[in-house]
Amino acid sequence: MNVLRLGEVTISRVTEVERWPFRPEELFPAITGEIVERAARELGPRFVDPDTGELILSITCHIVRAAGTVIVVDSGNGNFKHRPALLAHHRFDTPYLERLTEAGVDPGEVDVVVSTHLHPDHCGWNTRLLQGRWTPTFPNATYLFDRGEFEWLRALFHDDPDDPVAADLARTFADSVEPVVRAEQAVLVGQDHVIVDEGGTRVSLRGMPGHTGGHLVVDVRGGGRHALLSGDVIHHPLQLAVPDLAQGGDQDPARAARTRRALMEECAAGGTLVLPAHFPGPPGRIVRDGGRFSFDPLPDRPRPR
Ligand SMILES: [Zn+2]
Repeated sequence: MNVLRLGEVTISRVTEVERWPFRPEELFPAITGEIVERAARELGPRFVDPDTGELILSITCHIVRAAGTVIVVDSGNGNFKHRPALLAHHRFDTPYLERLTEAGVDPGEVDVVVSTHLHPDHCGWNTRLLQGRWTPTFPNATYLFDRGEFEWLRALFHDDPDDPVAADLARTFADSVEPVVRAEQAVLVGQDHVIVDEGGTRVSLRGMPGHTGGHLVVDVRGGGRHALLSGDVIHHPLQLAVPDLAQGGDQDPARAARTRRALMEECAAGGTLVLPAHFPGPPGRIVRDGGRFSFDPLPDRPRPR
């Protein structure tokens, strides 16, 4: 079972795509062969394909249950979304809804949906195609959007951009955000919004900008333990060894690097469990050895009790 416990809080992982490969320079334009070789050696075949040299990502959605509130964090890419420029996101057809059911999640029971940011692979399952219309996947949920992130994407949509990548982002607003607004299920929040705070259980949003201007992480505390659902602050564990390595989609690469370093330092110092959106396999901890950081994943399966 892909379920973690922090006291009374549970975090389930539903993987939309287990293996999402990218050529290294497609993901990180400034990457060198040396960085890839070292990552292959240190991280192994789960993260670097030994035959092709491709970097392996996943698309993982997290479901947090805390004090009776069911929260979906980063809904995933979604099916049948038209992304002709961002081909890695184009027209998925995955059994995501079946996987949610297998994980014991009924879309009707979800109370809150949060996107760490509004790139297509983090808000796509906000909606699904029903009788030709994009309809909220979670009919009873409040969808929380960072106000600045929402305004940025809405402005892009209204600009009707010619640039093909910007046009795909505008499509993301049209098919994955606007229908939620139309259904009166959207609420705009600031970067310090508290979702649950009850008897030692706390789920809150924190701003960690750089990858996008309004990028959030979800801070989860329960039973004296601490976890961060870190979205795209770190895309691939090789960035722990090279924290300044910008991802091609970083809106502000210098700020993204400062944020990444701050998250790494905080999580290493606090023993915080880190749940990134794109690491294949289990979540883990960030370990610091002098000036060097590495990723220490939890075991694939829970140890027998
Ligand atoms: Zn992403």
